[in-house]
Amino acid sequence: MPNSKLFEGICPNCNKTLLTDKVTIDGEKTVHFKVSAPGKNIELFMSSIFNNFKLKVLPEGEKIDKGLRVKIFCPHCEEELPKIQAPCLCGGDIYYIIERPGLFEHVYFCNTNGCHEQKMQEEKIPTGNTPASP
Ligand SMILES: [Zn+2]
Ligand SMILES: [Zn+2]
Repeated sequence: MPNSKLFEGICPNCNKTLLTDKVTIDGEKTVHFKVSAPGKNIELFMSSIFNNFKLKVLPEGEKIDKGLRVKIFCPHCEEELPKIQAPCLCGGDIYYIIERPGLFEHVYFCNTNGCHEQKMQEEKIPTGNTPASP
């Protein structure tokens, strides 16, 4: 998909890029996180293509159970990533990262594996009085 929109992913805590070529998904670099789930320490790689939603994990074969809520950390500063105050529709937490250097747009994602309510999305900056969608 050559016209796919890519994002880079910057840690809002330390401003370092999370983009890595250590793991690729669909031929593109991935955005690297550390994940803490009960009893596990997993490296999570998220596709850098908007609306792709594919993930890979290391160590290989490791799995995050569906529906499990994880804590997500920056692999550089090891701080937990920031969350928005409002919970996801599924009850999980929504983390955010900065889309790319020099921009204030964020990329949001739910911390619940398999959540289909709140997929990764770009921040929509309101441009006026948009009627609420039904
Ligand atoms: Zn960081
Ligand atoms: Zn969710």
